[in-house]
Amino acid sequence: MRLQLLDEDKVFREEVREFLASHLDPEVSEKIRLGYPVSKEEQDDWTRRLNAKGWAAPNWPVEAGGPGWTMVRRHLFDIEMRGHHAPELQGFGFSMVGPAIIKYGTEEQKAAYLPKILNADISWCQGYSETGAGSDLATVSTRAIVDGDDYVVTGSKIWTSAAERADHIFMLVRTDPDAKPQLGISFLLADMRNPAVRVEPLMAFNGKRLWNQVFFDELRVPRSGLLGDENQGWTVAKNLLGNERLLVSRVAESRRMLSNVRSALSEEGISVHSGLAGLMIRLEALDATALRLLTRFDQGHGVGAEPSMLKLKGSQLVQDMDRMLYEVACYYGLPLDSTMREGGAAGSTYADMAASGMFHHRGYTIAGGTSEIQHNIIARQVLGL
Ligand SMILES: Cc1cc2nc3c(=O)[nH]c(=O)nc-3n(C[C@H](O)[C@H](O)[C@H](O)COP(=O)(O)OP(=O)(O)OC[C@H]3O[C@@H](n4cnc5c(N)ncnc54)[C@H](O)[C@@H]3O)c2cc1C
Repeated sequence: MRLQLLDEDKVFREEVREFLASHLDPEVSEKIRLGYPVSKEEQDDWTRRLNAKGWAAPNWPVEAGGPGWTMVRRHLFDIEMRGHHAPELQGFGFSMVGPAIIKYGTEEQKAAYLPKILNADISWCQGYSETGAGSDLATVSTRAIVDGDDYVVTGSKIWTSAAERADHIFMLVRTDPDAKPQLGISFLLADMRNPAVRVEPLMAFNGKRLWNQVFFDELRVPRSGLLGDENQGWTVAKNLLGNERLLVSRVAESRRMLSNVRSALSEEGISVHSGLAGLMIRLEALDATALRLLTRFDQGHGVGAEPSMLKLKGSQLVQDMDRMLYEVACYYGLPLDSTMREGGAAGSTYADMAASGMFHHRGYTIAGGTSEIQHNIIARQVLGL
């Protein structure tokens, strides 16, 4: 089977390439290529450049300030962004809470938050997981009790990525402890800049602050911070990702990784590597499957368990690319990762990429629904088990 892009999609892809060539700061993209982190300022600056072009929120409809692209265009955009090593957009705002506000928000909430997300004037973190609630989120126990015009929130969230940079949090809280688990949960939008919020770092095995635990000690959240109806937070959370869940194949990230693997191999003078062809074939198969699903969706067809399949295969492929790069980098990839070492990479230029990928992509098979959970969905929906 040979997949052909429409002519207008090819023209679109050229426009994206030209924009990236003229607007992306080469120093920033080089940092990303080598596996170094970018600062919040650099990420925000890139968001504002995209916003000026109307491209900051590829997934938002035109009326909310997005470009209203088809899923196929978004897929192509993603591949070009990653391929040019552009900073990633703030996913919590653009891909999660933004679409939820567009769908469930009041006019006041839309006016208060959407323009600020588009212009990187506000940054979010996601407060779902708790020590006793991960895959089974219906068991969240952080309490929110109504008191006058406020909810009073007490409890704690864990694995909260980027909480140390965020000024706002969207979270699942229990508002009715007597209802069935899914029915007693509400979805709140809260300001983190409050003494009743405490953020404690959680360090990953590479010594980096990858997550946080966030404690709420009677945090008062105005009732206007409720998104959707009270006790209907489960519905909001379930629909939060909306069409985003179709873009879980990580094809763009795998393409970026593949080009890293190839340059590492050529730097080492290795022209044939037995594992490379296998990875390339898997990537082409994944891309074709993703494009087939997205095209069907754009044509108005329904979607079943395919997003779970794409997440499963896509996250495993990125990790296998990492493994190969790590093997090529050999012991140079070992000493922690780029930000932990004075002077950057020891040995080859790709050693940092290898270490950075190996550490940071481990979470892909856990966050957003573990691989076991994806297997369960596929078993239920496809095999009827
Ligand atoms: C990099 C990273 C970033 C994250 N960022 C955030 C964030 O910003 N905000 C946030 O709220 N959370 C975040 N998380 C947490 C993430 O959502 C949870 O780790 C995930 O949902 C799994 O929950 P858990 O860790 O409690 O594991 P558990 O749910 O306790 O699962 C433990 C193990 O049991 C398996 N398991 C569980 N249930 C089943 C089942 N029914 N059938 C078969 N196997 C099962 C799981 O697959 C897993 O292997 C992040 C996680 C990672 C790795």
